[in-house]
Amino acid sequence: MNKFLIVALALGISITSCKEKEEEFIAEKPEPVAAIPLIQYGFDLNRFEVYADTIKSGDTFSTIMDSHLVAGQNGFTAAQTLDNIYSLRRMKAGNAYKILKRKDSVNTPAIFIYESSKLDFVVLRLTDSVHAYRKKYPLRLQRTVAAGKIETTLSQAMEKQGMGMTAIYELADIFKYSVDFFKVNKGDSFKLIVNERYINDTIYGGIVNIEAAVFNKSGKNYYAFNYTTDSLNDKSDYYNEKGAPLKNFFLKAPVEFSRISSRFNPRRFHPVQKRWKAHNGTDYAAPHGTPIVTTASGVVVKSGYTGGNGNYVKVKHNNKYTTQYLHMSKRLVSEGQRVEQGQTIGLVGSTGLATGPHVCYRFWVNDKQVDPFAQNLPNADPLPKEQLETYMNVITPLKKELDEKSFKSATKK
Ligand SMILES: [Zn+2]
Repeated sequence: MNKFLIVALALGISITSCKEKEEEFIAEKPEPVAAIPLIQYGFDLNRFEVYADTIKSGDTFSTIMDSHLVAGQNGFTAAQTLDNIYSLRRMKAGNAYKILKRKDSVNTPAIFIYESSKLDFVVLRLTDSVHAYRKKYPLRLQRTVAAGKIETTLSQAMEKQGMGMTAIYELADIFKYSVDFFKVNKGDSFKLIVNERYINDTIYGGIVNIEAAVFNKSGKNYYAFNYTTDSLNDKSDYYNEKGAPLKNFFLKAPVEFSRISSRFNPRRFHPVQKRWKAHNGTDYAAPHGTPIVTTASGVVVKSGYTGGNGNYVKVKHNNKYTTQYLHMSKRLVSEGQRVEQGQTIGLVGSTGLATGPHVCYRFWVNDKQVDPFAQNLPNADPLPKEQLETYMNVITPLKKELDEKSFKSATKK
């Protein structure tokens, strides 16, 4: 993606698009043969003799200046002027500086430039009236639409697109609750719109955000759109093409339109067995035949029948979380089957030890049965209802842009 640009700059090919209006631009006599301007720090470096070095341990501004200044130039005034806007004590060994010298008979130092950080630099004018100022490098935002197909791993596919590790982590993080990246297959694909920042046109300044992405796993599209719900507090999150947050690992309940008839309780009087017994689940009363859905995606590790559980299904979501659904009138999935969040896995019944139609929902964290309501589960806030229309207006063109991006045109070596 940006590799060409980086290579071009590394080879010293000048990029002239970064030229900006610079009030400090010093117009020297034109060269007999017009050289291509090399604009940096707001100066055309080709018009000067450029002395470039880095601050060495033990260097001070005075020791550096002493060896360069010519008759008539005052090192003390220069130091004072610079110190007024940038404390000389802050100059660090290892930071680069340049002295731009006039192409006159004595190469009079005209400009001292100190690279104070990755983001800004300091300029000290040494001729005419000595003065100094600080300046930020121009920041450039680059928006890229990329697409890739997985041949071996996600990172391999993204590297092929010129994407760095940051983008890979970012993408994996966005989809961590919807796509199992440990099980991506050859042929799975992704498209993304990424905004990145470049300092002074050349230095990579990191990812601003992944604006939108779609991950196609086994033929199914998973969309993600970055949307700011609260600009005052800079609160943004990822939502799918319908406005549902992507970070909901678990649905709130395994049945819709139900009521909780019995909560998780380590000590409860069992209504059938008529004895005190821990209730290691949450009961949702619902009419016979109501669809029971898996609250998170995963693999069915058990689909069977016992006297107590009746017909039940157990789903393993990852190494940490497992859920189980009891007393079904009918089981609709088999062991080893992959299930997606919200998929119907059985129907409400009262098989096993049950007084009436309900589903007993059980929840394990690290092999320990717990109350899901007492867990700090990885869930995002839903999109506020009044923002849904705006959200759809924002994402419609983005989704179109993703859908229209072809894989072929994006592939780069
Ligand atoms: Zn129960």
